[in-house]
Amino acid sequence: MSKILYMVIPCYNEEEVLEETAKRLKEKYKTLISNDAISKNSKIMFVNDGSKDKTWDIIESLCKKDKIYAGVKLSRNKGHQNALLAGLMTAKEKADIVISMDADLQDDINVIDEMVKKNSEGYDIVYGVRSSRKKDSFFKRTTAQGFYKMMKMLGVDIIYNHADCRLMSKRSLDALEQYHEVNLFLRGIVPELGFSSTIVYYERNKRFAGESKYPLKKMLAFAFDGVTSFSMRPLRMILSMGVIILIISIAIMIYSLVVKILGHAVEGWAFLAISIWFIGGLQMISIGLIGEYVGKIYKEAKARPRYIIEKVID
Ligand code: UDP
Ligand code: MG
Repeated sequence: MSKILYMVIPCYNEEEVLEETAKRLKEKYKTLISNDAISKNSKIMFVNDGSKDKTWDIIESLCKKDKIYAGVKLSRNKGHQNALLAGLMTAKEKADIVISMDADLQDDINVIDEMVKKNSEGYDIVYGVRSSRKKDSFFKRTTAQGFYKMMKMLGVDIIYNHADCRLMSKRSLDALEQYHEVNLFLRGIVPELGFSSTIVYYERNKRFAGESKYPLKKMLAFAFDGVTSFSMRPLRMILSMGVIILIISIAIMIYSLVVKILGHAVEGWAFLAISIWFIGGLQMISIGLIGEYVGKIYKEAKARPRYIIEKVID
C-alpha cells in the first residue's frame, strides 16, 4: 500500500506565490497518485506564519475548493523554523511521510519523486541538497556557503548546502518531537536524530514572484543562533584567546622592563594606550559571547511554547 505524503509549506506574506505554488504541487500530486507512488489521502499543508497579507484567506479558499489542501494557522508570526515545526508536528498525526519545502518553490519540485523513491528504498530521512546556486544572487550564495563552511569549522554536524527541503518519516518526526529546545535550528537537530538517511540533489531556482523573507539581518541572526545553539567552541575560543594574551603580556612585561632599564620609559605611551583598548575590546566581546549563551539558557529555562496553533483545516 502506498504511503500518505504530506507536504509542509511555511508561508509568511506569500500571497503573490501561493496560488501558483498550490497549482504546481497539485499537478505533481496527481501524477504521483496516479502512479501509485503515494496514497490518495496525501495532502499539501500550508502553514500561515502570522502573515500580514491575504495569505490565510488564500489558504482557506484553497482548502474549501479541494480536499488535497490543508492549512494550519499560527496565532502570530513565529519565524520560519517554528512555523515549519508546527506544520511537521501537525502533519505527522496523519501522514506516513512528510516533505518540507519553501512556498516560493525555489527548490525544484521534481525532487519529490526522488525523495519518495528513496524513502520506499528504506531511508527515513532524505535531505535535499542544492547542486548549484547559480541562480542565487552572488551575495546570497557567498554568505550562505560561508555559513555552511563556518558551521563545519565550529564542529556543527550539518549537511552542506542543505536547507529545509527534506523528507522525514513518521518515526523520525516522533523522535524530533522529543527535542524541546526553544532555540530551534532544524538543520542541526535532524542529523542528530540518527536513522538511515540519504541525499538527493536538485537545482535551486530563482523565486518566481515576491521577495525573500530573509533579509540580511534575519540571515545573520539565524546563522548566529545556529552556531550558539550547537557549538561550545566559541566559548572555548575565549579561553584560548585569554591564554594567548597572557603569553603576549609576559613578552610585553619583559619589553617594558628593558625599556625602563635603558632609561626612556615615556616612549611606551602609545603602546600602552593601544594595549588597553585592545584588551578592553577583547574582554567585551568575550563577555558578550558568554552573555549570548546565558541568554539561550534563559530562554530554554522558561520553556515557552514555540508556536501556538489558532486553527487547523485538514
Ligand atoms: N517564512 C516563514 N516565516 C518567516 C519568514 C519566512 O514562514 O518569518 C517562510 C517563507 O514564506 C518561505 C520560507 O520561509 O516559504 C523561506 O523564506 P524565503 O524564501 O524568503 O527565504 P530564502 O529562500 O530567500 O532564504
Ligand atoms: Mg526562498
